[in-house]
Amino acid sequence: MSDCIFCRIARGEIPTTVVYEDDDVIAFEDVNPQMPVHTLIIPKQHYAHIGDDVPSEVLGKVFSAVKTVAALKGVEQTGYRIIANTGKDACQTVHHLHVHLLGGARLPLGMGPAD
Ligand code: AMP
Repeated sequence: MSDCIFCRIARGEIPTTVVYEDDDVIAFEDVNPQMPVHTLIIPKQHYAHIGDDVPSEVLGKVFSAVKTVAALKGVEQTGYRIIANTGKDACQTVHHLHVHLLGGARLPLGMGPAD
């Protein structure tokens, strides 16, 4: 996906603050952080979302990176939330599979429908 913004980040074409990178995954700081810690973890390969026939090994690499990033960001002990917005009702805006890792302060409890 040549014009996908996260593919471009993965290729190093758009500047970002990289937190973690390996052959398959890159994690970088969200440009509009919602929490003191707000890092995005993506597979370098393009998948639109978690339902886009993502191979289980890719999912494994992404979720393994979640643990690594949590440790690098210092929230491994205090706790964090991971979110993968998927599709319209979840308000997914970038259509390249990504996991938000949020932490560094107490998160709200609620997860119900918007008003
Ligand atoms: P979502 O609404 O789950 O699709 O989240 C997309 C996220 O990508 C948002 O939190 C944006 O702030 C973030 N984002 C968009 N463009 C960039 C970028 N160039 N660098 C870092 N984060 C970005």
